[in-house]
Amino acid sequence: MEKQNVPELFGSLVFNDKVMRARLSDKVYASLKKTIDENARLETEVAEAVAEEMKNWALENGATHFTHWFQPLTGVTAEKHDSFISPSPDGGVLMEFSGKELIKGEPDASSFPSGGLRATFEARGYTAWDPTSYAFIKDHTLCIPTAFCSYSGEALDKKTPLLRSMQAINRQAKRVLKLFGNDDVKYVRTSVGPEQEYFLVDKDVFNKRPDLIYTGRTLFGAMPPRGQEMDDHYFGVIKPRVNEFMEDLNNELWKLGILAKTEHNEVAPAQHELAPIYSTTNVATDSNQLTMEIMKKVASRHNMVCLLHEKPFAGVNGSGKHNNWSIGTDTGVNLLSPGKTPYENAQFLLFLCAVIQAVDDYQDLLRLSVATAGNDHRLGANEAPPAIISIFLGEELSAILNAIKEDKPYEGVEDVVMKLGVHSLPRFRRDTTDRNRTSPFAFTGNKFEFRSLGSSNSIACCNIMLNAAVAESLKQYADELEQSKDFEADLHALIKRVITEHQRILFDGNGYGEEWVKEATEVRGLSNLKTTADAMPHLLDEKNKVMLMEHKVFTEAELQSRCEIMLENYVKTVNIEGNTMVDMVRKNYLPAIERYLFQLAQTTSLMKGVSDKVKCEYEVSTLERLSELTDSILASVKKLESDLEEFKSKDNVFDSSAYVRDELLPAMDELRKYVDDAEMLTSQKDWPFPSYGQLLFSVS
Ligand code: ADP
Ligand code: MG
Repeated sequence: MEKQNVPELFGSLVFNDKVMRARLSDKVYASLKKTIDENARLETEVAEAVAEEMKNWALENGATHFTHWFQPLTGVTAEKHDSFISPSPDGGVLMEFSGKELIKGEPDASSFPSGGLRATFEARGYTAWDPTSYAFIKDHTLCIPTAFCSYSGEALDKKTPLLRSMQAINRQAKRVLKLFGNDDVKYVRTSVGPEQEYFLVDKDVFNKRPDLIYTGRTLFGAMPPRGQEMDDHYFGVIKPRVNEFMEDLNNELWKLGILAKTEHNEVAPAQHELAPIYSTTNVATDSNQLTMEIMKKVASRHNMVCLLHEKPFAGVNGSGKHNNWSIGTDTGVNLLSPGKTPYENAQFLLFLCAVIQAVDDYQDLLRLSVATAGNDHRLGANEAPPAIISIFLGEELSAILNAIKEDKPYEGVEDVVMKLGVHSLPRFRRDTTDRNRTSPFAFTGNKFEFRSLGSSNSIACCNIMLNAAVAESLKQYADELEQSKDFEADLHALIKRVITEHQRILFDGNGYGEEWVKEATEVRGLSNLKTTADAMPHLLDEKNKVMLMEHKVFTEAELQSRCEIMLENYVKTVNIEGNTMVDMVRKNYLPAIERYLFQLAQTTSLMKGVSDKVKCEYEVSTLERLSELTDSILASVKKLESDLEEFKSKDNVFDSSAYVRDELLPAMDELRKYVDDAEMLTSQKDWPFPSYGQLLFSVS
């Protein structure tokens, strides 16, 4: 690959601040900037001027089409391409793009899930420009990041509630900051850096596995003799083919202004990770969606397939995503970073409390924000955070909070009783904070890392909940402290109270241990929502509805529809998996085993015909065991078939998701077990699909 000039390449396909400043008039630029930074109303003349320049820039950069790019509730991004051309009076064409087309689009919304929203409100949906996320060019198309709503304004996408949640936390955080005398802060924003895990497999091998093609994961497959036991893959040399892929991927992402930075192998063979430099939450969300899309595309160019499924291989480490999250001001202060002065530290502690309380009060919302059929295979298994949400603070910070709670001296600082606003806190070194990988929600020096996300999850969902829940804690604090006559004393009392009341969510120990599950659920009363079917209905719990509506993140109808859509996605996913299993077993596995049985039987009878001394121990014992397994496979595929049939009779998504959890998934597990056992006894030559070993070590 030719060497690239990275600074020149970076953002070359993005209509970013630099381009806008250079191309827009000072007046238009200033006005747009105000819209972007402070959410000011966008004037029509400004939109017209921006559209004109955006079009010119796009044409100069090879674009012929434009699209409103949005994130419906299906999990992928959607686009509908329109050409810039419009007929000119002389029979030719003009390249046109108006402010109206920039601001609003009307895609045919009927093919996207709405959970009954459009039926209730309006049949059509529209997309609306999000000027806070830059437009970019992809495949000769100008892509305009947009929100997607019904005509009555109900959100049909993930961006709209995310933007609302950012507004909510901005509103409440500014109130709190005012109490500390920070009057100069114009806005507060949350930032995210998502670490993205993925697998790469060879395309030719992939194409031989219908389960991977239809469902993104292997539904069968016995473990290879060598999985990740050796643990040498992590810091191992990146394979040449993977290296070329990563270089190519970086170039593509850099052109789109995505700050892909670190990349390395992960624990499992064929598993890798990419981390970008963090950015504002909605931009990070758009970028992560794009990153996933580009990863797949670039992998394909290299004759590989990028698997973003949470658990493509049973028994092998799955793929997650880490949502590194912090709150910062436009004046450059990270509110989750301990400051230099005692006052800054009191402020830091209050924001810390807001997060602790939010995570405790809304554990269920955080859990359900990452709930999908795919991620259910990871959470709670011995590789990913448990389905129980808890917070890791690290030794130092825990000791400080303890000192405050107990009115005791904290030895790390001064041998006197901790009093806020009086003593300074130590600056935490990053390496003294978390290396405990078993915690789902860990403080890592100046940010929190939420680790329960699945690799294919949109990061929008968890950030909506996180922002809203923290906004709620901050609101309560502002309500209380705005009335205070003695700010310092009341602040101290408040912090002490929050630490005491929410102690149960703090846990620094091993989150993978059996003892923790017992302690968390039985002693601490934390929730343990193991599956999507268990978690999702909590979206409609009264306390959750009240909070999300209070902060104007969702309307009641939106919550109802979202809950149903998410459960529908879960049900559909597992249904496709079940049907794929039946298909593979009936058409391939059973006939293959049968061929092998025939060979064994034929060999045995031929050998016995030659000599009655031969025992044919291998042939006979294998035949017996395989024949027994064949009976079990047949019985379980029949059971699965009747379950799939019965499942059709469920008429609401709450019933069908419970059925998926209680009947379908266990039936699928059972069937798989027998097929995998049979794989171990059948000659590889006769097995119809590539093995785990062939998949996991397919890329050299
Ligand atoms: P890890 O040690 O967890 O593998 P990495 O360095 O791979 O960490 O990734 C950390 C991620 O956190 C990066 O995407 C980085 O940009 C992001 N990050 C760093 N500081 C912040 C912050 N203040 N807010 C949000 N994200 C941050
Ligand atoms: Mg991490």
